[in-house]
Amino acid sequence: MIENRVELTPRQISDLGLIVDGRISTSQSALDQHGHDESAFPSSPPSAVVIAASTEEVSEILQYCNSEAIPVVAFGAGTSLEGHVVPLFGGISLDLSSMNRVLEVRPDDLLARVQAGVHRIALNEKLANDGLFFTVDPGADATLGGMAATGAAGTTTVRYGSMRENVLAMTAVLASGEIIHTGRNTRKLSAGYDLTRLLVGSEGTLAVITELSLRVFGIPEKMAAATVRFSSMSEGVQAATEIVKAGISIARCEFLDAKCIRNLNAYDSMSLTELPTLFFEFHGTPRSVEEDALAVQEIVADFGGTEFEWTSDEGERRKLWRARHNAHWAAVAAHPGKKSVSTDMAVPLSKLAKAVALADEMLAAHEFTHSILGHVADGNFHCQIITDPNNPDELVNIRRLVHEMTLEIIAMGGTCTGEHGIGAGKIDALEVEASDSLKVMRRIKDALDPKGILNPGKIFAAKTNRT
Ligand SMILES: Cc1cc2nc3c(=O)[nH]c(=O)nc-3n(C[C@H](O)[C@H](O)[C@H](O)COP(=O)(O)OP(=O)(O)OC[C@H]3O[C@@H](n4cnc5c(N)ncnc54)[C@H](O)[C@@H]3O)c2cc1C
Repeated sequence: MIENRVELTPRQISDLGLIVDGRISTSQSALDQHGHDESAFPSSPPSAVVIAASTEEVSEILQYCNSEAIPVVAFGAGTSLEGHVVPLFGGISLDLSSMNRVLEVRPDDLLARVQAGVHRIALNEKLANDGLFFTVDPGADATLGGMAATGAAGTTTVRYGSMRENVLAMTAVLASGEIIHTGRNTRKLSAGYDLTRLLVGSEGTLAVITELSLRVFGIPEKMAAATVRFSSMSEGVQAATEIVKAGISIARCEFLDAKCIRNLNAYDSMSLTELPTLFFEFHGTPRSVEEDALAVQEIVADFGGTEFEWTSDEGERRKLWRARHNAHWAAVAAHPGKKSVSTDMAVPLSKLAKAVALADEMLAAHEFTHSILGHVADGNFHCQIITDPNNPDELVNIRRLVHEMTLEIIAMGGTCTGEHGIGAGKIDALEVEASDSLKVMRRIKDALDPKGILNPGKIFAAKTNRT
């Protein structure tokens, strides 16, 4: 275990400053900004913030930090939800946000090459010039490096896949400073171990990603949206799984419980009926989106779905999805001064209704204020649990209950995280879920980062073998 926090000495600050041409900060505001993510985890600032501008610089920084046994926490946009970027052991926060160039867009190859600090909205603005878009959409305006590092997914995963399916190749820097290139700019690859997918989801514990090749798609000719209400959560969830089983081409399918809808109405001035609701999006030709919407309408009716409304009006579609993306902030805004703990579990589709009902019952039994939403077509759902940051005991109790819930989910064949990752919050759950394969994960970590300098205390409990 790494037991002690590492504070940089004046010599180390000066050495690192020379590597990055002075782009190092120990100002309180920089340290505060890099001491937390969007979770309710308590903040723990780094000893210094270092801003990297190139792969070569990242390599020099890591060589130096490895030789000095300084912890390094890569920082993208800081939107992760399990304490991922919190420098639990001090050291440096390595901010990649200045590496924000879209290096190449290749419409004929349906491919884009970016630096790791490019934000997904900026990428999509650039791609739109060529009629293209990058599909992975976690709601927050995260960086592509951070999204790869967490294995991010989101509302469109049911149709286009997550980061695991959409990162083709990478440039990354190992703890030793060695620069590696993984994958190729091809849509298929079967050459040796798949190091790209090893780094996807590695949460900055195996390497720092500096460049990525991404698979992109043509913007569909037509997009349409639909909503439908249910009298109970389980009917809504069952309807969603039935739609997936029927093979209807949905681009998005999101469940929101009545409390989420109430929060959205208040936050986004909407007037949605406050009942459990499914939001849909369809992509295709004008004819195919209409056919898909009608097919969905038939299925939801079998589950008691009412007030089915669909629109191909672009303004209405955007308004609906903007509201969905604001669900986290709407929950926080409904409870001024509070924070939201977002859980993230996924189960096989056939278990989804049972899993959602179980989570709801367990939270209700403990009287925690909560709401439930999810990317239900992927069997993935979140509970937003409201907590008072001034009452740390409450957070401890919530974490304990979430762990109990997670164990139930694992026991029914599910996973402790469908998309947010392990961070500092799911380490115990990973130990249960991964069981024997955890030893192999640990061996990979030790082989690539023997001193344990990369994001210590995340995915695994930290090691003590730093010199
Ligand atoms: C409102 C809201 C909604 C969200 N919805 C979703 C959702 O639907 N789906 C989903 O998947 N997530 C969701 N998230 C979580 C978050 O947006 C994702 O985890 C995102 O991928 C994090 O990207 P980031 O750039 O903010 O990374 P950061 O938070 O900066 O970092 C995340 C992790 O990646 C590491 N890292 C960052 N950059 C690099 C790099 N270049 N190389 C190596 N490691 C790196 C960090 O060390 C850290 O461990 C949501 C968050 C919020 C606030």
